[in-house]
Amino acid sequence: MSHILVVEDESAIAELISINLRHAGFEVTIAATAEQAQAAVDGVLPDLIVLDWMLPGQSGLALAKRWRGEARTRELPVIMLTARADEADKIQGLDAGADDYLTKPFSTNELMARIRAVLRRKAPEALDSAVEVGALKIDPATRRVSRGDTEVKVGATEFRLLHFFMTHPERVHSRAQLLDRVWGDHVFIEERTVDVHVKRLREALSPVQCAHMIETVRGAGYRLTQQATAHAVSA
Ligand code: CA
Repeated sequence: MSHILVVEDESAIAELISINLRHAGFEVTIAATAEQAQAAVDGVLPDLIVLDWMLPGQSGLALAKRWRGEARTRELPVIMLTARADEADKIQGLDAGADDYLTKPFSTNELMARIRAVLRRKAPEALDSAVEVGALKIDPATRRVSRGDTEVKVGATEFRLLHFFMTHPERVHSRAQLLDRVWGDHVFIEERTVDVHVKRLREALSPVQCAHMIETVRGAGYRLTQQATAHAVSA
């Protein structure tokens, strides 16, 4: 289930958006100020942020710029809401790193469509489609991992971890990033926990000769690769 943070000081609009989002199956958190929004993001990274431009105190635009400037939040999808229809403002919003832009008043159907489009672009793991990397296949809809006809038994956490790796292959992820993206709602877990689950995941993948796909990148984290090199195969 995708988690959306709605940053909007007008409570009627925030409520309207969140009712529609929940109805569409999203998990929703509402923040009424930039400070509340920052606190929410510091706790758990949402999958997408609906961000009002005009907030009391710090503006939505300033928030978007700050998030784009920090490694942890750089990839956060942001849809900006504003009453300003001016073209120059729109460009400013997109320059600040917004993925999309909606001018008030907007229809909730339009917002839902934009949210889905941004999530599809930004986070393929939010969707239930099966993913294949090399010989390995993972299907969130049936919760199955397989290589050819052979099914791989993995635990719930290992499944989420593998799904994240497979939807973001060939990239190195730090333990902190993995905690954010895979554990999300339990951010106070120690980074060592990631190592434990990576070890279990490799053990689960071992019978289908895919354990080597999860590489340890010394000093950086982990990566899923299909370009297995001899030295990358851990004993
Ligand atoms: Ca506002």
